Amino acid sequence: MPIQTVFLDRDGVINVDSPDYIKCRDEFHPIPGSLAAIGRLTRGGLNIIVITNQSVINRGMVPLRELQAIHDKLHRLVAEHGGRITDIFFCPHRPDENCDCRKPKPGLIERARERYAIDLSRAVMVGDSAKDILAGKAAGCGRTVLVQTGNGPTAMRTLEEAGQRPDHIAADLAAAADWILAHGDA
Ligand SMILES: [Mg+2]
Repeated sequence: MPIQTVFLDRDGVINVDSPDYIKCRDEFHPIPGSLAAIGRLTRGGLNIIVITNQSVINRGMVPLRELQAIHDKLHRLVAEHGGRITDIFFCPHRPDENCDCRKPKPGLIERARERYAIDLSRAVMVGDSAKDILAGKAAGCGRTVLVQTGNGPTAMRTLEEAGQRPDHIAADLAAAADWILAHGDA
């Protein structure tokens, strides 16, 4: 069954993550090759949706309008590379709010599935953290890919402790996109 939908985590996958969070559009710096990778996935006919935890909203660190400005910048940069992001689903909650959408919970992916009638068995979740892979598996995504940018280097230990493994480990989003485009039919 060919892959149709690619769910992408944002921070540490598309852009350089920061322990101080990404608080404004000037702090949003693409990881080299990530925008071109989204362009290749788009040209490959894939539906691309960003799934991101943004507790900065309910921590009161980033106004909603600035998050929108960051995402406007992301859409613009991706378009400059021939790519298209269908939608961006974000969780605004803090961990202590115990919502159903903060990854590793599958709520954001389920919301995307409902809005766009996505066949999750034909979807892949790409992330740099264990919680991305766990959310993808909990939602029933057909594949999961862990990238080694961002939190990637420490994510495998957390996944092993949870008894889970990604289907593939890629150096970065560029390599993940190549794998998806080459192996999406397998
Ligand atoms: Mg991340």
